[in-house]
Amino acid sequence: MTKRILITGGAGFLGSHLCDKLLGEGNNILCLDNFYTGNKDNIAHLLGNPLFKLINHDIINPINLDVDEIYNLACPASPIHYQYNPIKTIKTNVMGAIIVLGIAKQTKAKVLQASTSEVYGDPEIHPQNESYWGRVNPVGIRSCYDEGKRAAECLMMDYRRQNKVNTKIVRIFNTYGPRMAVNDGRVVSNFIIQALRGEDITIYGDGSHTRSFCYVDDMIDGLIRMMNAGDDFYGPVNLGNPGEFTILELAQLIIRLTGSSSQLIHQPLPADDPTQRKPDITLAGNKLDWSPRIDLEKGLIETIQYFHDVLKTS
Ligand code: NAD
Ligand code: UDP
Repeated sequence: MTKRILITGGAGFLGSHLCDKLLGEGNNILCLDNFYTGNKDNIAHLLGNPLFKLINHDIINPINLDVDEIYNLACPASPIHYQYNPIKTIKTNVMGAIIVLGIAKQTKAKVLQASTSEVYGDPEIHPQNESYWGRVNPVGIRSCYDEGKRAAECLMMDYRRQNKVNTKIVRIFNTYGPRMAVNDGRVVSNFIIQALRGEDITIYGDGSHTRSFCYVDDMIDGLIRMMNAGDDFYGPVNLGNPGEFTILELAQLIIRLTGSSSQLIHQPLPADDPTQRKPDITLAGNKLDWSPRIDLEKGLIETIQYFHDVLKTS
């Protein structure tokens, strides 16, 4: 059945891959974005498709749309971008969720909220499972994002209980791949670009912090599986790749795969930077029959090729 699907943040990294995939399945796609961190190049190849519509709009403002499903991805995801205008970040998360839930209530659409591993903050349990309530600093420089996403989760659940809106929550762990912006600032794109340019690789702190990196294709598959899962499974559910690496290991792997002569340098660790992060994906395995297929080395090779091509033409 052809569905009308709204993707907020559709011109961003994850959103544009979601547009591709859902359009390829024959759906009508409404891609809504204000181009804060998104880029028209990510969706330029879709603009002539009659099933694709671009809506240049800021999700904190009301809009009337008639849709069957909503993927709510609008929000800068990189710490440097979400900390650049923190008031805007929390507005996007909270007011954006209210606008999207209003559309869903009116049109009886299903909503999937792109939440984050950041709701666990700097976690005391490892790996993190969905029943853990997290350890978030409510007044720190990451709070605009972390608390904004926590409030959005709250709104999803309250609209579900109070207004019977069909909501779903996915907690996305660090995801990387082609179409991350060159100026994104997250660790995978930073290190690859630095390595390809032969610049110093900037390790914040001593490099012992860990993250678990998921390739974009696996994440998109998980998001769609969650949207299509039975209405009785509404999450929150973790999606991510449980392979855990220190930031130093990531840098060394990228140097090996690019054959770069870049040197590692250390810079101060940003405040409240979580020490370790690894998803427990048992629930996604049981309920969605989902697990990531692409290991870090394979995903990095694809991503390095992408940035190699982008840097060559820029
Ligand atoms: P991204 O920055 O590439 O994409 C975000 C998109 O949202 C951009 O196109 C941006 O222009 C748009 N946007 C921002 N504010 C908006 C607003 N007020 N109105 C309309 N559009 C707006 O980031 P991404 O990595 O693609 O992340 C997408 C979503 O997934 C975000 O909600 C993010 O919090 C979540 N997420 C991503 C990761 C990850 O590792 N990629 C991890 C956890 C959660
Ligand atoms: N990081 C780093 N160098 C960089 C960018 C990030 O060492 O150039 C570190 C950062 O301090 C964090 C980890 O890499 O410990 C992941 O950072 P990112 O911004 O990608 O995402 P986060 O998971 O912190 O939101």
